[in-house]
Amino acid sequence: MATNPAEVLALPKPAWAADEVGMLYDMAHRFMSEEIAPRYDEFEKNEMVDRECWLKAGAAGLLCASMPEEYGGSGGTFAHESAIIEAIGHVGVDGFGIGLHNSIVAPYILHYASEEQKKRWLPKLATGELIGAIAMTEPGAGSDLQGVKTRAEKDGNQYKVNGSKTFITNGQLANFIIVVTKTDPEKGAKGTSLIVVETDEVEGFERGRNLDKIGLKANDTSELFFNDMRVPTSNLLGHEEGQGFVQLMQQLPQERLQIGTGAIAMIERALALTIDYVKERKAFGKAIIEFQNTQFKLAELKTEATIGRVFYNDCVTRHINGGLDPATASMAKYWLSDLQGKVVDECLQLHGGYGYMNEYPIARMFRDARVQRIYGGTNEIMKLLIGRSL
Ligand SMILES: Cc1cc2nc3c(=O)[nH]c(=O)nc-3n(C[C@H](O)[C@H](O)[C@H](O)COP(=O)(O)OP(=O)(O)OC[C@H]3O[C@@H](n4cnc5c(N)ncnc54)[C@H](O)[C@@H]3O)c2cc1C
Repeated sequence: MATNPAEVLALPKPAWAADEVGMLYDMAHRFMSEEIAPRYDEFEKNEMVDRECWLKAGAAGLLCASMPEEYGGSGGTFAHESAIIEAIGHVGVDGFGIGLHNSIVAPYILHYASEEQKKRWLPKLATGELIGAIAMTEPGAGSDLQGVKTRAEKDGNQYKVNGSKTFITNGQLANFIIVVTKTDPEKGAKGTSLIVVETDEVEGFERGRNLDKIGLKANDTSELFFNDMRVPTSNLLGHEEGQGFVQLMQQLPQERLQIGTGAIAMIERALALTIDYVKERKAFGKAIIEFQNTQFKLAELKTEATIGRVFYNDCVTRHINGGLDPATASMAKYWLSDLQGKVVDECLQLHGGYGYMNEYPIARMFRDARVQRIYGGTNEIMKLLIGRSL
């Protein structure tokens, strides 16, 4: 019987993963296995997952699981979001970008939109009628977010927005985009504001290329252009301009933890697949697992994965109790994504030449893992943030 990624580390489940979170994991796992995995090659070829799958995910309760029920969500916590992202990683459909929609885009609305906007937007984010994205990065400003140039100028009851963004996840499908703008360029970070763009309702919005990436092929990643784009001033997040940087700093820890979720889930899948492979494959008359090198390598990887999982579980416990500080969230992002790269690379090595063949899942994992060290703030930036806390 195939090794189960969810059980490969044989650790006790943390309290937050019990009962209904466990049931949500099982349901999400079934959904990803039945609805997404069978069509995943097609999605990789199309470089995006069908909009229909988003609607199905919404109908199955996999969108906005941590949003309050009064706004169409399921009333859960980050533990529920973790269960869904873990299911995606364990099934191996990492390009299905609902994690960003659920635990990055929706929380900005919950925390900073007006009551009327929450009632208008969150239910549609929960059904998948609205697909979310967040547009921070620009061609000239990635790590240095203060360097954002996209300008939003007030003109009556509208903002006139000019500028461009790049590398935006869900950028082809998204019709609900939180855009990082400068409302007062003189003020630097204090002149930064977040503005919601409902792309179906504005003029002057244009999508660029669906960018050709080395991995995460099933996810659309795009350039976006704003040419005198008109957005109602009421789409500003927060009560006043200039709050954008503070809002980003408040929400980025969850984004970083969520990258850790994807990392630990892929680590567990890589281990499970590799343990099965080395038991099956033979060389010099014996199974690969019988070589001491294989056992030592897998022993090291399982040990590090166990340390990673215990650390991750603790971060989630702290986060749902409101106590995950930004430096620890940065540690989770950097250390778990570094470990993911190492584990996937070593596991590929244990597959020999087959590991380099796209028909083996470890090959796709190798390609998909690489970006985890780059997006959400590069791992170098994570170390800067940790350094500042010393
Ligand atoms: C697949 C993909 C999806 C993405 N999705 C999104 C998205 O949805 N929304 C969004 O806004 N962005 C997204 N991004 C952008 C991503 O967050 C940025 O690429 C990332 O923050 C790095 O910015 P940059 O590419 O401009 O690199 P740069 O900032 O140019 O960095 C280049 C190198 O310099 C290093 N560096 C920079 N500053 C320092 C410093 N002070 N000290 C030490 N080293 C430093 C970096 O670590 C890196 O190694 C995505 C990127 C990719 C590849």
